[in-house]
Amino acid sequence: MSTESLGATSKKEPIIAYDEPLKEFQDILEEALSVLNYPPHVYELLKRPMRFLEVSIPVKMDNGETKIFQGFRAQHNDAPGPTKGGIRFHPDVTSDEVKALAGWMSLKCGITGLPYGGAKGGIICDPRHMSMDELEKLSRGYVRAVSQLVGPTKDIPAPDMYTNSQVMAWMLDEYDHIREFDSPGFITGKPVALGGSAGRETATSKGVLYTLQTVSEKENIPVEGMRIIIQGFGNVGSYLAQYLYELGAKVVGISDVLGGLYDENGLDIPYLLENRDSFGIVTNRFQNSISNQELLEKECDVLIPAAISSVIHKDNATRLNCRIVIEAANGPTTKEALRILEDRNISVVPDILANSGGVIVSYFEWCQNNQGYYWTANMVDERLKEKMAESFEKVASTAKRFNVNMKLAAYIEGVQKLAETCRLRGWIK
Ligand code: GLU
Repeated sequence: MSTESLGATSKKEPIIAYDEPLKEFQDILEEALSVLNYPPHVYELLKRPMRFLEVSIPVKMDNGETKIFQGFRAQHNDAPGPTKGGIRFHPDVTSDEVKALAGWMSLKCGITGLPYGGAKGGIICDPRHMSMDELEKLSRGYVRAVSQLVGPTKDIPAPDMYTNSQVMAWMLDEYDHIREFDSPGFITGKPVALGGSAGRETATSKGVLYTLQTVSEKENIPVEGMRIIIQGFGNVGSYLAQYLYELGAKVVGISDVLGGLYDENGLDIPYLLENRDSFGIVTNRFQNSISNQELLEKECDVLIPAAISSVIHKDNATRLNCRIVIEAANGPTTKEALRILEDRNISVVPDILANSGGVIVSYFEWCQNNQGYYWTANMVDERLKEKMAESFEKVASTAKRFNVNMKLAAYIEGVQKLAETCRLRGWIK
């Protein structure tokens, strides 16, 4: 099965998540709220999800045994509207990670002006070692377990790491059966035949691409000939590599869960895309593969981490060899690493801005479902481009206004709308 985003660890040198994503989220959130002079109770409200559900999902496995899977759904804040966010299937997903990811979704929706609060779900499982039947049972079981809390005007799931349109289709079918009516707006990232949107599958990578094009104009580095390393070759990394290759950029490095490939003359992206397996793995075909860790430190103009969180940390930030980092993954750079990169004059374009293309087109999908009127791929693409450009400008001007880096500016921009909706509802002063 293809993936929304592929987690990357290395066979040669396992990547350690140095900091807790929830702590990262909370620390920068606190800083953003203090810049905006909000009283402490606002931070107390927003530092954790308003609602969190932990579930146990029994699945009868192919070998006849019953296995119990642990799942989560975090709803960060529903003041702006229903909550929105993906569901990840991953062996290492934790409750704290899901809580942080839900918070980041709230900020993404704030920056991009979507009428949602943030949410996120996760199931501890390893989809690479499960059959399609087992995955279907697990997906349906998850929906049964959380059905009271979700819905098209309550909380709208979507794909995330190791989940895809097929998983969304099973989940939609289960939800429709429980509710006894057709409800395409319950979930986004569905197959087009079931009410999915044109362009949803490529939305996150297109969003990163538009961000990179804006950066290229601002920094005066043409995309043609730009040397780029993409860490992660899942849904986001692979489409992005393809678009950049087509635009004449030099994709000098890519990686998957097993390792990385680097060639200063540029990699043959079409060949790599053709030869990867259904989990996006291709580096195992090469003798000269390097570790993910080594790849991150190779020379390039733009480094795009598009896999898991915390891969750029205090111990390797000093050794990065790039001019710009564009965060396509959620939370790939730790707070300490951000400080080091800032000192080294390496700019970081934050995740909650750069990877918001996915949720933007999810919003378009939900609008189309609510209207029963479907847009062309061109309409989706035009509107995505417009939203990405607007969001970039908002964050860039906030950075200027408060004289802060893009990361803090993105938090400030994102939390402003969220806090305003909480204030209007009388939840905070
Ligand atoms: N999982 C994606 C994200 O992290 C998309 C969420 C959505 O479409 O709701 O932004």
